[in-house]
Amino acid sequence: MTLIRKFYAKYKLVFFAVPVTALILGSVQMITDPPLLLLERFVPGSGWIEVTLACVYAAIVINGMKDPNKVEQWRKITWLIFSVVFFSQLLLGLVVDARFLMTGKLHLPVPAIVIGGPLYRMQLSIMPLLFISTVVLTGPAWCSHLCYFGAFDNLAASGKGMRNRPIKNKMAIKNVFIFLLITVALLFNLFGVNSFIATASGIFAGVAGVVILLVFSWKNKIMIHCTVYCPLGTLVNYIKHVSPFRMHITEACTECMACTLKCKYDALNLKDIRARKPGITCTYCGDCIPACSREAIIYRFWSMPPQTARNLYLVLTISLHASFLFLARI
Ligand code: SF4
Ligand code: SF4
Ligand code: SF4
Repeated sequence: MTLIRKFYAKYKLVFFAVPVTALILGSVQMITDPPLLLLERFVPGSGWIEVTLACVYAAIVINGMKDPNKVEQWRKITWLIFSVVFFSQLLLGLVVDARFLMTGKLHLPVPAIVIGGPLYRMQLSIMPLLFISTVVLTGPAWCSHLCYFGAFDNLAASGKGMRNRPIKNKMAIKNVFIFLLITVALLFNLFGVNSFIATASGIFAGVAGVVILLVFSWKNKIMIHCTVYCPLGTLVNYIKHVSPFRMHITEACTECMACTLKCKYDALNLKDIRARKPGITCTYCGDCIPACSREAIIYRFWSMPPQTARNLYLVLTISLHASFLFLARI
């Protein structure tokens, strides 16, 4: 009995993440037609193999990430895997077989298009719906585990750097970019701008993002693309509180600023620390938690104990991450 209890205590999170992943992907496998699981498109029935693989993957990842000290490394690797798989499937879909694409049609892999596309077409598609459901469930986890592009900004900003200087006028610049995107998309719709020009504009926005990542994120070791430029990230910042999850700094904080150097999202400046909550660009990634010797940075979910709130956040986020990884791409 003691052995079983010890085993459960050690792998508790696995026992939750596996059924949640199985539930999400099992439902997808049973309900969707045409199939959204890639193998199912090639060999009927084999979608279940993918569901099983996703559960194994979720078990491995959550077991690795249960230790806060290992989150940063695990997140960097798993988020990168997510993006590489996404772009590989996109390439295979364009070059080898259209079945690698979720809808059989190409959608530009630029995060801003998740906002701009539906406004231009005045039509909701699957991507905005996926995006909204993740924000409701896990707040800003889209921008730390689930977006196909953010992993590259995370990689560019990795390593040691001077993260103790706040980005000047960050919110004003963010607001300008999201305002521009919405205005241009609506004007394109209003004036019936053809899809060639709309696509070219989307490509331009994507290329500009890559340049920002390579020049500014790399140099400053802060995710400038995600925290300043990306309009989808700004939308996440504004709507993340529809989910009850929060990140909080307790009164145990001594304002030593050790955590600031760990945050690539520019969310732990002195002003934020004094306000006892990370700034608006916080994505609840958890990278900063091990830096605090006072254990002052905690997850919150209503009145749950912080450890339980963190466990719940990990279970939901990693189950979604594993599920999206094994879904066929755009
Ligand atoms: S800010 Fe934009 S690019 Fe970065 S992770 Fe969020 S949606 Fe993706
Ligand atoms: S490391 Fe901990 S104590 Fe130091 S500023 Fe950050 S939250 Fe406060
Ligand atoms: S404050 Fe902490 S949890 Fe929030 S983005 Fe920064 S490192 Fe991640």
